[in-house]
Amino acid sequence: MKCAVCGQKIEILFLEKINGTYLRDEKGKKHVVCATCQQQHPIKELREKL
Ligand SMILES: [Zn+2]
Repeated sequence: MKCAVCGQKIEILFLEKINGTYLRDEKGKKHVVCATCQQQHPIKELREKL
């Protein structure tokens, strides 16, 4: 699984728990964003990068 913004590999901790978050774009498609990008950019800005 890779971050939709920076392309870095995201580790899956267990089950659906990931070291990051899930974001949905306007079409409802799920994207994963790593914890680093999540901390560095507001959600609104991350959505624009999807
Ligand atoms: Zn990232």
